[in-house]
Amino acid sequence: MHGDLRTAFKSGKTRSLAFRKEQLLQLCYLLEDNHERFAQAFRIDLGRPSEESELVELTGTLTELKDAYDNVEKWASPEKAPFSWLWFAMSPRTRKEPKGTVLIIGPFNYPVYLIFCPLAAAIAAGNTVLLKPSELCEATALLITELLPQYLDPEIVSVVNGGVHETTKVLELPFDHILYTGNGHVGRIICAAAAKHLTPVTLEVRPDLYTRDTGKTPCVIDPECDMKTAAKRLMWGKLLNGGQVCLSPDYVLVPATSQDAFISALKAAYYELHPVNPRKSGLMARMVNTRHTMRVKRLLDDSRATIVIGGEVDIEACYVAPTILRDVARDDAFMSEEIFGPILPVIPVKDVDEAIAFINEGDRPLSIYIFSSNASFKAKVIDNTQSGTVLINDTITQILVHGLPFGGIGPSGHGYTTGKYAFDQFTHLRAVADSPNWSVSHLSPTATRRPDVPRVN
Ligand code: NAD
Repeated sequence: MHGDLRTAFKSGKTRSLAFRKEQLLQLCYLLEDNHERFAQAFRIDLGRPSEESELVELTGTLTELKDAYDNVEKWASPEKAPFSWLWFAMSPRTRKEPKGTVLIIGPFNYPVYLIFCPLAAAIAAGNTVLLKPSELCEATALLITELLPQYLDPEIVSVVNGGVHETTKVLELPFDHILYTGNGHVGRIICAAAAKHLTPVTLEVRPDLYTRDTGKTPCVIDPECDMKTAAKRLMWGKLLNGGQVCLSPDYVLVPATSQDAFISALKAAYYELHPVNPRKSGLMARMVNTRHTMRVKRLLDDSRATIVIGGEVDIEACYVAPTILRDVARDDAFMSEEIFGPILPVIPVKDVDEAIAFINEGDRPLSIYIFSSNASFKAKVIDNTQSGTVLINDTITQILVHGLPFGGIGPSGHGYTTGKYAFDQFTHLRAVADSPNWSVSHLSPTATRRPDVPRVN
């Protein structure tokens, strides 16, 4: 499989832009033609309502695929080096070349978006690709395995299924790039395996148990913000996919004097979003399996925080009720690891300075959410923290905003997975210069003249 992908790459067929475009279009058709089957697979694997799959997973993925199709010529065109009297005769330029055969490993929570977006970027860049979907979403993985060879050239994209054992075997093979999305602990295993072959890695993870997990995505509340809107957008983001989103708001930092008002706004927002009990309404995704349900239950059992609403768990049904916790202590169980479930801890702080200090004590998160209409409040939080992304007055949607890079920093990952930025991950910038016989540039006296460096004082 790996050997065949290498052979196909070496055959040069993926070098043609027309071929890449045709494959990208086929990938769009694959999603469009089988829309309902994918929505059904997400219902089986994640108990996720179709409307939710439509917005984030299906429309989001198709938009990315179409973007790659529309822009591949632009992204792949060579770039001239800036003009210089000394070097212009050599026509210096950068060619955008494919790296070769790449591996994309995906997690369970968005089992199509998180492998099809990088897949589109890898194809656009001219690579051959081995895909490893999450084994926790079996229906989706089987559907992907069935459909890909029907739509795409099987010589350039293959799928490998399985769990830890199979992935470990695959990781023994030499790849030209690996893009991994999942938890930080496994991210370290992937990087160690890649290091044996000096393979570059793009890592989309979350800070893991080996590090201080306050690097989870924080929300900072300005007491002067529009609390009703803030609470609604925050609850929406928290409950999306049953809280199993890498960008889920993980905890809320609110001034202690405004905690009561904010909790009331959160409760009102919850009942507005879910007027019918989400256990029965079919409007909220379930936990992916009993293991993850039990993990969240353990956190609830160990937590000392006050439950405002929710708290119920049905392990057999993989159901965790949307839960708001207040007066959460900094060393509470919910602050010890990524929650990945519909639980929202609210932590009272003195003010924005204490909120910033709290964030900076932990790992650099994948995102920070700020709820404020005050320019200096927003600037203060952004200028004094670090994170993969920042979103103001909303949650989750930064990943869908066209043209923005999406990726972490430090323990929340490195590299980018969407649009042109993802294309660049799978591209080698090959410098080319062609010295004509008449050129004497590097032998001329000008070439050896040291540049003038301005003295500032
Ligand atoms: P996971 O790390 O358990 O699994 C991801 C993939 O890695 C799967 O395909 C799995 O088969 C493989 N895998 C698991 N253990 C392995 C091992 N020991 N050796 C080799 N391969 C292994 O992640 P998950 O539970 O499927 O997904 C949830 C995690 O992913 C959460 O931590 C979430 O924050 C993270 N995530 C991060 C982003 C991001 O962009 N930063 C996006 C989505 C999900």
